[in-house]
Amino acid sequence: MKTIDDCVRKNIASMQGYTPGEQPKIPDLVKLNTNENAYPPSDTVCEALRTFDWKTLNRYPDPTADAFRDEAAKRFGVKRENVIAGNGSDDLLTMIFRTFADETRKTAFLDPTYSLYEVLAKMQDSPVIKLELAEDFSFPSDAELEKLKDANLLIITRPNAPTGNAFPLAKMEDVLRNFDGITVFDEAYADFADDNCMELAGRYEKALVMRTFSKSYSLAGLRFGYAVGSAAVIDELMKLKDSYNVDKLAQAVALAAFRDEENMRKNAARIRSTREFLSGEFARRGFAVVPSQSNFLFVSPPDRNGKHYFEKLREQAVLVRYFPAERTAEFVRITIGDDRETARLLEATGNIYPEP
Ligand SMILES: *Cc1c(COP(=O)(O)O)cnc(C)c1O
Repeated sequence: MKTIDDCVRKNIASMQGYTPGEQPKIPDLVKLNTNENAYPPSDTVCEALRTFDWKTLNRYPDPTADAFRDEAAKRFGVKRENVIAGNGSDDLLTMIFRTFADETRKTAFLDPTYSLYEVLAKMQDSPVIKLELAEDFSFPSDAELEKLKDANLLIITRPNAPTGNAFPLAKMEDVLRNFDGITVFDEAYADFADDNCMELAGRYEKALVMRTFSKSYSLAGLRFGYAVGSAAVIDELMKLKDSYNVDKLAQAVALAAFRDEENMRKNAARIRSTREFLSGEFARRGFAVVPSQSNFLFVSPPDRNGKHYFEKLREQAVLVRYFPAERTAEFVRITIGDDRETARLLEATGNIYPEP
């Protein structure tokens, strides 16, 4: 008789699932580990929820979220056919991997970067090409980029996670000119950055830009993301997405949040300002700080022991993220919090590494 193991696809049996950041129930926890927004969503979002016509929930949602697509198309100067909505950008990534990655179509991404890509590549049995970031986490060298000639799908996280830095736009365009496959810019943190790749998505047929409402729009709990690209690429993704991948409530709330861009910008500006203050504080205290364009900092404590700093913070109910891999072990990733959380973080840090 066949065992369950015999029935499971080999690549699935041998892979590790994605490990999400912890969501623990520690009293009075300062939660700076999963890059959620420090501030709640706007009153406009509250209003959209309050006035949502719950009686319509007996009917399926618009399968393609066209009201949102039209609004996004207007904002970015493209057409509806250039936009696709997803149940968070993780859903878009799943569509992208299903469409462009398999046993012969290899996937390339940065190292270190968002660890979900590797999980999705394994699901597709797609060989992975890792492009090592330079010593200071800047963009991979030209020699490293040579590896791209074997790739079919390239994902560039910009700003990158967990490092937080962005790569020069001119470099991004170089890549688009030279790389022959599909290039995806995962711009989960673009609203905290000085610039973004949206304009490139309009000019290069094989480029795709992904955004999420989980970070800058304070809606990680809702699940909504979208991608912008050529109609030819979007059409392929449409074929294999779940029919009703974005629920009716998420469509209504995301649309309301998107229309209230001003509130998002206001919160992003506050977060950027806290980020600059905190970067200075860490530098003053002898930490190495990667220049951040995102809503988090990647810092290495004076003893360069990321694990120690992570554990000692956790003992004081301050939760950050530690990545044990070789390249990241000297660092921790810290989400930018509100003023109270920032004060708690600095106080707890001072108890571990006394101020100079
Ligand atoms: C948070 C994050 C995502 C996931 O976004 P969701 O819309 O919440 O699924 C994707 N990519 C990167 C780089 C992220 O940091």
